[in-house]
Amino acid sequence: MAGKKVDLRNPIFHDDDAARAHLERVLWPQGPVCPRCGVIGDRITKLQGKSTRPGVYKCKDCRKPFSVTVGTVMERSHIPLSKWVLASQLMASSKKSMSALQLSRMMDISYQSAWFLFHRIRESTIDADSSPLGGENEVVEADETYIGGKARNKAYGPPPKKEAVLTVVHRDGEARSKHVANVTAKTLRETIVTKADRKSYLMTDEAPVYTKLGREFNGHGTVNHSEGEYVKTGGFHHTNTVESFFALLKRAVYGQFHHISDAHLFRYLAEADFKYNHRIALGFDDADRLDALLRGSKGKRLYYRQPNEAANA
Ligand SMILES: [Zn+2]
Repeated sequence: MAGKKVDLRNPIFHDDDAARAHLERVLWPQGPVCPRCGVIGDRITKLQGKSTRPGVYKCKDCRKPFSVTVGTVMERSHIPLSKWVLASQLMASSKKSMSALQLSRMMDISYQSAWFLFHRIRESTIDADSSPLGGENEVVEADETYIGGKARNKAYGPPPKKEAVLTVVHRDGEARSKHVANVTAKTLRETIVTKADRKSYLMTDEAPVYTKLGREFNGHGTVNHSEGEYVKTGGFHHTNTVESFFALLKRAVYGQFHHISDAHLFRYLAEADFKYNHRIALGFDDADRLDALLRGSKGKRLYYRQPNEAANA
């Protein structure tokens, strides 16, 4: 239900038991589920012994203990659950994202911990739904942009490489972005036909890389920025949706991060897609976005190589 406001004084952000209870409500709406055999109901017992950690359940079928974080990005983390939930909310509520440095200052954790937290939470934003956008009588916009390549934070040497990003946006709907190796017609086609339904009407700029691809779609419109075509066609021919997506992505990148290493770029794109696809106009408020993030943590357990990587992202 959209419209609720987030109150950071909510105990789920400070009290680990409350945070765990919230996670259980979100991840187990039908009650505890054994992560190994999927059993629910009275085959599950809660362990309540004095020496038992809180939130531990046992499956009578496979006889293994588990808690709500098993099989999620939070598994085996030494960071308290309430900090996971708070960091998730901060990310879910920050339209232009937040840097690990800022998180470390706001939550009194080390920069390394903050960096790992945010990367794991970002991993949670990777969308399992890869169904193509659009369809008959729907418009999808596709465009490419470049991220990185600014030399201002480097004392010497050549500026870092620019990374190409392709985004497909369903007008009034969702976005799917991908870090692409180059922007040749072949590469763009491969990505666009998996992210956009070819029954859609495709809208791009006039770049020749889209000409042949456009014929595979039900229709293909191009935008000529120099000739005021937007006005000429009654507002139908435009790529403003994807352009405003890129504007926000760039504000997030250049406002918060000095340099995104290309190995991590896909995760920042997932974050941008996630926020766009859970925006207010689609009926999601900050609390819904938090819960969607927490649900996304499932099946995404990650181990990072420790941790000097942190210096480049
Ligand atoms: Zn089991």
